[in-house]
Amino acid sequence: MSSITFLGTGGGRFVLLSQRRYTGGIWLELESTIVLDPGPGALIRSLQFGKNPENLNAVLVSHKHIDHYNDAELMIEAMTHGTKRRHGYLVIDKNALGYISGYHQNSVDVLVPKPGDSFRLDYLKVRAIPTWNHEGIGFRFLSREGIITYTSDTGYSEGLIKHYRNSRILIMNTILPSGVNIKSHLNADDALRIVKEVRPELAILTHLGMQFLSHGPDKEARRIQGETGVRTIAARDGMTIDLEKLNEGEKQLRLGNF
Ligand SMILES: [Zn+2]
Repeated sequence: MSSITFLGTGGGRFVLLSQRRYTGGIWLELESTIVLDPGPGALIRSLQFGKNPENLNAVLVSHKHIDHYNDAELMIEAMTHGTKRRHGYLVIDKNALGYISGYHQNSVDVLVPKPGDSFRLDYLKVRAIPTWNHEGIGFRFLSREGIITYTSDTGYSEGLIKHYRNSRILIMNTILPSGVNIKSHLNADDALRIVKEVRPELAILTHLGMQFLSHGPDKEARRIQGETGVRTIAARDGMTIDLEKLNEGEKQLRLGNF
């Protein structure tokens, strides 16, 4: 099964510290098994949601903030059977590399892509994409189930749109609700603008901050869907999207078990 599981959907320090939403990142089962931005709780949540970290082939870190890299070493430990076997990849932004011990770096193949660089994780082609007003990289996964794009934390820029085009699934780190602007992060209005241009099959809001959670992310997702006609959801902790059943998603969405 090709799938995406949210080990956490919280963003920003107050959600992180309160664990109002989990902060474990995203588990991808594509041509390679990947954990993306393993923040605090990635190990615990992967076990909780039935994922075996020993099956990982790659740990991806988009930037150096603690909600994105905190459990990276733990996930490397699991991936390498306690560093007993050299196995798998650490793909990491150049500014975050120094946060990972040399001991853990030595037990994996380390890739430090720049925006625009393409690389392979087993049979999966991946491209690093730029962010705006925020240090780090996003990722674009060119899987046989279509293109899955992860914006990572970024400000809004029209220049980013071309990096998101042709996505089947677009995962946007949208910390803020509509009307609250911070240059370095997307709010729901930015997400709406992006969805309008990119028109993926499914748009997902995640990395939700405290204000956004209080405001109601489902409401914003419905607004974006209403204005664009593009299926849009706010991620929930533990939510799995089965890419082979995405076409049945409308039904799943109505049933609320997406
Ligand atoms: Zn973040």
